[in-house]
Amino acid sequence: MAEPLLIGLNLRAFYRLKMGGVRAVDGVDITVPRGSIVGLAGESGCGKTTLVNVLLANVRPPLELLGGSVLLDGLDVLKMSRDEVRKKVWGVKVSYVPQAALNALNPTKRIIDLIRDAVRQHTPATDQEIVSMCKRRFEELNLPFDSIYRYPHELSGGMRQRVIIATSTLLNPQLLFVDEPTSALDVSTQKQVLRMLLDIKNDRIIDSIVFVTHELPLLRQIASHVYIMYAGKIVEYGPAEEILLEPQHPYTKALMYSVMTPEPESRQRGIISIPGEPPSLISPPPGCRFHPRCPHAMDICRTREPALVELRSGSGVACFLHHSKEAA
Ligand code: SF4
Repeated sequence: MAEPLLIGLNLRAFYRLKMGGVRAVDGVDITVPRGSIVGLAGESGCGKTTLVNVLLANVRPPLELLGGSVLLDGLDVLKMSRDEVRKKVWGVKVSYVPQAALNALNPTKRIIDLIRDAVRQHTPATDQEIVSMCKRRFEELNLPFDSIYRYPHELSGGMRQRVIIATSTLLNPQLLFVDEPTSALDVSTQKQVLRMLLDIKNDRIIDSIVFVTHELPLLRQIASHVYIMYAGKIVEYGPAEEILLEPQHPYTKALMYSVMTPEPESRQRGIISIPGEPPSLISPPPGCRFHPRCPHAMDICRTREPALVELRSGSGVACFLHHSKEAA
């Protein structure tokens, strides 16, 4: 079997703040197989975006790395200097569409000017070369090429998002991270963005994608593998079909039921919100971090932390309900 495109091992990172250290990523292992779309799901404040920054080797104060390694196509990126990462990794091996990208475009610049600024951070391409890159990519993705000569406010939210994603692939990186790319969009526009991401992967423009979202059921349409993150830790992972059809961890189930989907069962059940809020990561609860919100919490859950145990090959869960007596 081919080596995974990305392997993150025992990643630990925290924010050093005046009120204390925020343990945003606490012992995370994650693998992105080649040719996959990996979903990373969890509520806001669970550490997803921080984990992405660590995987991108974008660790700057107040974020500090405590340990772990990231191998991206054989490159040990956390050991590289920021300058090396900027030249050899960002844009060319890996690209990132951050959560706020849709609204963060400079309104005084045309799309092509923004693209030129971004591309020239990585390569000294001429104006003509950049326009040719855009033309080829926009044609491949059936996007109107003349949109590059417009200002951001002249494009709809959905078109803006698709243009941002398309331009993030211009230098042919192998891996694309997209952080909540559909959260500000209506349902039909969401579908267009998801369709485009699938095309990007299926047409081999990009080898693999990491899709970050708080809407777990969305991943049914796109992901091959899923990781569920809660309070800085991975609590469940596995093939998307398994996790989305038969979630094992109570938090994964709660995430599934907190969003309405088109399925009849979902409409019958309605939306069931998750009680309480994600814990403070300055002083997370002892034992299982989900125990104050878990309807199945037992005594052991309040004092001991459940390990992430492999259930079947390629899937695992961190919950005492699924541990054998010996493991517990
Ligand atoms: Fe709930 Fe206990 Fe499982 Fe945590 S370990 S999810 S508290 S049952």
